Amino acid sequence: MKTSSKNSPFAKILTAWPEARLREGIYRAGPGDVERALGRELLHPEDLAALLSPAAAPFLEDMAQAAHRLTRQHFGRTIGLYVPIYLSNICTSDCTYCGFAVHSGSQGDRRTLTPAEIRSECAVLAGQGFQSVLLLTGEAPKAAPVSYLAQAVAIAREYFASVAVEVYALDEEDYRLLVGQGLEGVTLYMETYDRETYARVHPRGRKRDFAYRLEGVVRAGRAGVRRLSLGALLGLYHWWADGFRLGLHARHLQKECWQSAISLSFPRLRHAPHRHPVQYPLADRELVQLMLALRIFLPEVGFNLSTRESSRLRDRLIPLGVTMMSAGSSTRPGGYSHLDDGALEQFEIEDGRSPAEVAAAIRRAGYDPVWKDFDRAFIE
Ligand code: SF4
Repeated sequence: MKTSSKNSPFAKILTAWPEARLREGIYRAGPGDVERALGRELLHPEDLAALLSPAAAPFLEDMAQAAHRLTRQHFGRTIGLYVPIYLSNICTSDCTYCGFAVHSGSQGDRRTLTPAEIRSECAVLAGQGFQSVLLLTGEAPKAAPVSYLAQAVAIAREYFASVAVEVYALDEEDYRLLVGQGLEGVTLYMETYDRETYARVHPRGRKRDFAYRLEGVVRAGRAGVRRLSLGALLGLYHWWADGFRLGLHARHLQKECWQSAISLSFPRLRHAPHRHPVQYPLADRELVQLMLALRIFLPEVGFNLSTRESSRLRDRLIPLGVTMMSAGSSTRPGGYSHLDDGALEQFEIEDGRSPAEVAAAIRRAGYDPVWKDFDRAFIE
């Protein structure tokens, strides 16, 4: 049964930080506020605002050193590797920025993998050495119902040590059903925390329910999911506003779901359908500032970096707080075993290197690529 989340503890935290208060924190911050934030052990939300502010731009080198030190302290010299498996590209939602949206105008076959096809994809990726996978679908509870997701998780667990899903927001009992099949992780991006923007870019479909999605990760944590991953789709709104609220969300989850490991992703909107020009494009330098600020605010939180970013930028970001990277990714169902090369893909990837090439780049940066799920040992 769907639960109301309008007055949830995190919704109240968001309400306590209206845009006017956040803007004031960002634009009134000066060099002294940035230095104070850099000197603290446990940062307050006001410190995060200072690190996201224009006043922090001259301090990027100091922030990079702090981020590097904190990441080493909490995660050592390892970067975990994972790979996405798209189970279905059918979607009944109409997110204006997405190639899978029902009215995106995208060309290409729509399909949902059969159990045998899921096995083919898993076999290819297990053969490449992966032990950690992320299973994805669109918002299509008819094409990919919870029973199908449970079956897919069970199949993937036969091949991989760690299985996570990035699917539509579920009820707690549905997450519990997946945990019973071996699910370890849930990724659920809020996309944007700005309610007006959220309503505009989600014109129809079940994803339109902001409050229900906002509480999805807490429901997953309560159901026993051990790894919870959050993100905002950067480019939908001001990066500093969504970055600040993402930081608050992660800190809230650290308390609310203390038995789970929390991680953040930084997907940047690059190739949107024609109907959605990217309104708040984010420069590399701003992405770096955002990641550094959040690393300093949240030292124990993992950072995931997908192949949406170029190989050049991904290599530069490795020492600045990244703890998990995807590699060799395909964003179309059946993409690894070439079941249907005409199947619609969600977005074009920027880093097209093979898993072995990404692992070599990680080693060159002085880190150990880890194929097995080190989070499991960390959590347990
Ligand atoms: S972002 Fe997800 S829910 Fe929205 S259109 Fe794309 S696949 Fe569907």
